[in-house]
Amino acid sequence: MPAPRDKSSSHEPLYPCGRPLLDLPPVLDLVILGATGSIGRQALDIVRANPNRLRVAAVACHSRVDILAEELSSLAASRPDAPAPLVTVTDPAARERAAAVLGPDVRLLGAGPAALEEAVTAPDSVQVVVNGLVGAAGLAPTLAAARRGVRIALANKESLVVGGELVAREVAAGGSEVLPVDSEHAAIAQCLSGRDPGEIARLVLTASGGPFRETPAAELATVSLEQVLNHPTWKMGPKITVDSATLMNKGLEIIEAHHLFGLSYERIDAVVHPGSIVHSLVEFVDGALLAQLGTPDMRVPLQYAIAGERHWPLAGRRLDLLETGTLRFERPDTERFPCLRLAREAGEAGGAAPIVLNAANEVAVAALLEGRIRYADIPRIIAETLTDEEPGRVHDLAAALAVDARARRSATTHVARAAAAG
Ligand code: MG
Repeated sequence: MPAPRDKSSSHEPLYPCGRPLLDLPPVLDLVILGATGSIGRQALDIVRANPNRLRVAAVACHSRVDILAEELSSLAASRPDAPAPLVTVTDPAARERAAAVLGPDVRLLGAGPAALEEAVTAPDSVQVVVNGLVGAAGLAPTLAAARRGVRIALANKESLVVGGELVAREVAAGGSEVLPVDSEHAAIAQCLSGRDPGEIARLVLTASGGPFRETPAAELATVSLEQVLNHPTWKMGPKITVDSATLMNKGLEIIEAHHLFGLSYERIDAVVHPGSIVHSLVEFVDGALLAQLGTPDMRVPLQYAIAGERHWPLAGRRLDLLETGTLRFERPDTERFPCLRLAREAGEAGGAAPIVLNAANEVAVAALLEGRIRYADIPRIIAETLTDEEPGRVHDLAAALAVDARARRSATTHVARAAAAG
């Protein structure tokens, strides 16, 4: 039975539900984008633990070449015979230091954002691209991976928020596949294993609720950056940790789920689930609900995607159901967390709106991390930026990047005003 197409979705679901995955060789060559970030370093952990299954063809990072040097030397120690991976360092100043820090054997690719695409295209052999980049910068390399016809283990949700339709088009043309790394979407993928997509009624994404789940609205105006960064369950990079505190992360994930699984927005719900035990659920047309449970360990969804949806052994803490006791679910409060509502509305509007939403959020989060604005300024800046941009369709990458650049300029002026108001 073919999947029912939702009218609101302009493309086939990206996730290959009910379709065979790519037939890849037993040893996989990986490209790891964002290699010094939280996802990238965990991907390198997985490679080191699976020397007979995984190799690294290329790595890319922005500027933290010292961390990269540590990671590469521990990778080399785990398999002395393997050739050194190609290396992209996008920050020009850091790239200048890279040769000295990484040693004479390193094979450095070009500088600048275009070098991220080069990391995908330059290696002779690539089967899996792990995209652990942060923000809209992840879109162009995702498109390059789609054109190369490889498996994309996608942690960069902004690729789909900003360019869901573009990615779908290139994936279809290039014969690649997108397997989600985001824990919620990986949970849904596990629940859908072997299922007919026509049997899906609804998706339920779970949200930890972040550090302010129980904080009264009046106190949210004065929370500190330290409180924002104190996530109750997941240890992640700073940008996604802020997004989790505003619930923007869940909003972006709703848009991501729409593009991955091809369901209309009214069939994608989010519930707050403190503790992050249930990673998400699928409701089927007969009312049956399937969930995936586990400890909050990003290596589980990451390895599942790299492995092509196989459960390889993984050393880590196991979930103790008796210790867990009860599971709680709550309705998300969009009054206290307006970012969740803004994201859903932008997703439903489609076209330029999710690009503007994402750009404004990236600018606002960067300003918060620099201590220039307050937590409560974030949703205001995003809402103001959204009203600046005329809604419209976006047909290609150049148009998407133009909307993105305009929205960043506009958000920057709103940030300056918020910063001046103190
Ligand atoms: Mg997630």
